[in-house]
Amino acid sequence: MKDCIFCKIISGEIPAEKIAENDSLIVIKDITPKAPVHFLIIPKKHIKDLVSLEKADAALLGEVGLMAKELSKKLSGSQAFQLVTNCGADAGQSVFHLHFHFLSGKKIADL
Ligand code: AMP
Ligand code: ZN
Repeated sequence: MKDCIFCKIISGEIPAEKIAENDSLIVIKDITPKAPVHFLIIPKKHIKDLVSLEKADAALLGEVGLMAKELSKKLSGSQAFQLVTNCGADAGQSVFHLHFHFLSGKKIADL
């Protein structure tokens, strides 16, 4: 998708610190980390946000969960983490390409 920063990272047009990658997902370090560990799990397919997800792409959510599990195994010390997606500008979404914040080392909020 033209003018989408995450599509440009996925295509290699914009550099990013890559943590993991498979056929459907890429994981990068967040450029402005809000916790000692702050990764972004990003489906390679351009989907605007969680409510734009179609049933045909629902398996992606399982892949995100499994990726979070793999990432947690690599954490030093506590393997606790938070997985967050902001859906809509009023919820804090600033990049409109579906992504999940993987956060560890600091609790972001009491939910
Ligand atoms: P959100 O505000 O939930 O849409 O999250 C977007 C996240 O993308 C923010 O935490 C930004 O810091 C992060 N971000 C924006 N541009 C880049 C980039 N070029 N490389 C890595 N992370 C980025
Ligand atoms: Zn995109």
